[in-house]
Amino acid sequence: VPAIDIEKIRKDFPLLQEKVYGLPLVYLDNAATTQKPQIVLDTLMHYYLHLNSNVHRGVHHLSQEATAAYENSRKTIASFLNARKPEEVIFTKGTTDSINLVAYSFGRGEIKPGDVVLVSAMEHHSNIVPWQMMCEDRGAELKVIPMDENGELIMSAFSALLSDKVKIIALTYVSNSLGTVNPVRDIIAQAHARNIPVLLDAAQAVQHMPVDVQELDVDFLVFSGHKIYGPTGTGVLYGKEEWLDRLPPYQGGGDMIKTVTFAKTIYNVLPYKFEAGTPDISGAIALEAAIKYVQQVGVENIQAWEEQLVDYAAQQLQQIEGLRFIGKPAHRSGAISFLVDDIHPYDLGELLDKQGIAIRTGHHCAEPVMGFFCIPGTVRASFAMYTTFEDIDRLVAGIKKAAAMLR
Ligand code: PMP
Repeated sequence: VPAIDIEKIRKDFPLLQEKVYGLPLVYLDNAATTQKPQIVLDTLMHYYLHLNSNVHRGVHHLSQEATAAYENSRKTIASFLNARKPEEVIFTKGTTDSINLVAYSFGRGEIKPGDVVLVSAMEHHSNIVPWQMMCEDRGAELKVIPMDENGELIMSAFSALLSDKVKIIALTYVSNSLGTVNPVRDIIAQAHARNIPVLLDAAQAVQHMPVDVQELDVDFLVFSGHKIYGPTGTGVLYGKEEWLDRLPPYQGGGDMIKTVTFAKTIYNVLPYKFEAGTPDISGAIALEAAIKYVQQVGVENIQAWEEQLVDYAAQQLQQIEGLRFIGKPAHRSGAISFLVDDIHPYDLGELLDKQGIAIRTGHHCAEPVMGFFCIPGTVRASFAMYTTFEDIDRLVAGIKKAAAMLR
């Protein structure tokens, strides 16, 4: 049994104590967003009560305190990811914002007509559309690493797609719609053998497994604060210093400059070069609280706990008559997608909701994945450190009840 004190953890999350339609809440929509522990809420409030002021500008006491707290958060995140330096951590609004930043800057700095950008068949829209926009702008081509019926990347096809024209590979670490954990080490090794940088979308990874950017040797890695128990509107871009130094800035404005005249602006050093304007100061500081909370529980412990939950869920769901999994990856994390008979996922979702069970239905911002499986959407159950075996039992009982009504 993993060293996780589930009772204590659940008490730390106020929203888990809420009732829905008078029933205890079963929250299985963690891939969309996680609930927040009390310490994150307290940190947000503490900031506005005791620290509120702008960062990097004032000589006064409050501004210095706020700046120190903001920069401490950067240090905590750098150490959480094992980045070489805090300067390699850029605060953003989230995964979407981080990917748009890299797509825009990389496009401007590195992409010529005829170049190729590789993504995979299982990307979230936020790791497709920014690259599509950039390719359109630069006259480059977006190519797709295909997947198979299990929802796993076809590695021979990936290798065959590599060429001197490929300038960057942007790939999800863990699929939000299928739960697939991709063989990112192999992909990065093959890419680097050809000097191609890799961006990993770790939006569904950092909250479920240890992520070490030096061990992965990844060039860019992005995630959202709100999916790792932190506030919405916060996110991270990790980038190797040599890449971040080399790329042009994304947005212009205050903080990202060293000097400005109407003739010319000299840009600031890292990380400020990529942080134009007043950032989400309270959010960044509360994100640190979330990450410290995760570190305290231990990412390895969370991983071990969730692996048991996912195995149990797969085993129990499998016994439901007419249920089929969408994606059967050998290596899965965090989420399970499925359909029951030809019941529309939305109908099943509604009847589960009435039983106090929150799951996600639909295309999960991955329409190409749904197109591949020729389905309108899936029902997705997704897990967090506070998920229990009882939650899964209620889900299974809820599906049986709903299916009996809908058949
Ligand atoms: N990538 C993946 C794999 C995701 O799961 C999500 C969120 N569902 C995103 C990107 C986008 O994240 P955000 O909306 O927080 O920017």
